[in-house]
Amino acid sequence: MTASFSESPRLGGTLVWYFTICKREVWLMARGVEPDRDDEFLALGRLIDKTTYNRDRHCIDFGNSKFDIMREEKGTLVVGEIKKSSRSIDAARLQLAHYLYELQKNGVEARGELLFPKEKKREEVLLSEELKTHLDQVYQEIIAITSLESPPCAKKCKYCRNCAYNELCWS
Ligand code: SF4
Repeated sequence: MTASFSESPRLGGTLVWYFTICKREVWLMARGVEPDRDDEFLALGRLIDKTTYNRDRHCIDFGNSKFDIMREEKGTLVVGEIKKSSRSIDAARLQLAHYLYELQKNGVEARGELLFPKEKKREEVLLSEELKTHLDQVYQEIIAITSLESPPCAKKCKYCRNCAYNELCWS
């Protein structure tokens, strides 16, 4: 499987998320290889996104990023990211930190909230110098992965079972 890819990838939150989950998925996503849209886990994610936290503003586009929720609270901007479970919480933290970093680069200070409506759970995410250094490394690695002529080999991991690329990788 090869594809030409002369432009730099759009370094959005989705690629940052997949970087923590699976490097092959980063390549597939960045190259526009469509996952199975009927995948039940994608459908569940869309449903949760549409039916929760209705008082907040939803799906705000900002540069290469898309925030699930945005609101103002006591003079501070709060950016929220909704997840269907906390199973991949490290990936979720990094994705949200990326959003906060993007905002900061544009002169906007914000704090983040990870929301897990099914588990009735939320977690605050604050941007630290350590997180920014880590993200700078992640961006470089994402660029390196997406510059490969073909995707990294599929490696079985705990995320494969629920992955929309499962059929592509393993059938
Ligand atoms: S099925 Fe597994 S190896 Fe393939 S993209 Fe998904 S997580 Fe990665």
